[in-house]
Amino acid sequence: MKFNTKTIHGGQHDVDPAYGAVMPPIYQVSTYSQSTPGGHKGFEYSRSGNPTRAALERALASIENGQYGLAFGSGLAAIDAVIKTLQPGDEVISTNDLYGGTYRLFTQVFEGFGIKFHFIGMENAENIEDYINENTRMIWVETPTNPMMNIIDIKACAEVAKKHEVLLAVDNTFATPYLQQPLDLGADIIMHSATKYLGGHSDVVMGALVVNDKALAEKLYFIQNASGAICGPQDSFLMLRGLKTLHVRMQRHCENGKAVAEYLANHPKIEAVYWPGLPSHPNHEVAKAQMKDFGGMISFVTKGNDYEEAIKIVEKLKVFTLAESLGGVESLAGHPASMTHASIPKEEREKTGVVDSLIRLSVGIEDAEDLVADLKQAIG
Ligand SMILES: *Cc1c(COP(=O)(O)O)cnc(C)c1O
Repeated sequence: MKFNTKTIHGGQHDVDPAYGAVMPPIYQVSTYSQSTPGGHKGFEYSRSGNPTRAALERALASIENGQYGLAFGSGLAAIDAVIKTLQPGDEVISTNDLYGGTYRLFTQVFEGFGIKFHFIGMENAENIEDYINENTRMIWVETPTNPMMNIIDIKACAEVAKKHEVLLAVDNTFATPYLQQPLDLGADIIMHSATKYLGGHSDVVMGALVVNDKALAEKLYFIQNASGAICGPQDSFLMLRGLKTLHVRMQRHCENGKAVAEYLANHPKIEAVYWPGLPSHPNHEVAKAQMKDFGGMISFVTKGNDYEEAIKIVEKLKVFTLAESLGGVESLAGHPASMTHASIPKEEREKTGVVDSLIRLSVGIEDAEDLVADLKQAIG
């Protein structure tokens, strides 16, 4: 099956053996009757498994070309499960330009349990080797990175991971499997904040993991069940509904992203535009090789790098809504320094380029002309 068919049909055969409904029923239930102790029809308690969630988990595995999918109550709950496969003393090498909540989870929760994280630039995968030692267990990659849109070569990272026998985990939230499929590039774990593009309508908070290795899947399933950060059946249903249009939405996100990035790149008041589709982007060639297109996430900096001016611009936007999050059908704008990255110390965030005037756009699927006109009136 090709990708555009998988988003609709992947793992969805015979979802309702009782009546043949073409969408899986919402099994709003916590427990299941047993004919004799242990004699059940595949489900015994909805933390351990629920038919609606199972249908979603099959769909998630299918679109990422993986064997096993696991759905969680949020993206961070999914990351939490991944890191819980490690032990005190273990080390993780992570991208330095990272989703703020991931950074907070790594440094403020897991470092307290004795896991060590190294945050480094990975645009050159060889850098990773400098930090590998006998305690290294995992490489954590976000690409494109948030919010600087750096592109990391997943294949090159996978080679380093294989050579040193450590796992490679990729946060595929920004790209989605429409743009890149990390398991095919050699990654071991794909993680999603499904809250964003996979759901696509800003109405569900959810996380996902997809893996190919059976033993790893069993370990993650154990944690999913033992720690219990699952998602409910209603949200699973909504996520499945969102997934079915992922490819059409992404196509339009990419088209609109191009229109907006090109407008900004030619604007006299704009200092820099970060979008991997621009030939001026430092990792444009890697992006071209590993991604099908370049997505709808764009960051830019105004000339003069004025904090107040950036705040004024995001306040003036009308079609773009000022809000955290991304990946929905509607366009959003954010000011990372005061919003998503406020939990990262100024010194740390500026090292990776998150300066005071940086504005991040999640370009939606509205008419591109309206989006450009909105930016025009706001930037002046
Ligand atoms: C939003 C996001 C997360 C966290 O996911 P939640 O669903 O908000 O818990 C992790 N990584 C990236 C890249 C994100 O954008």
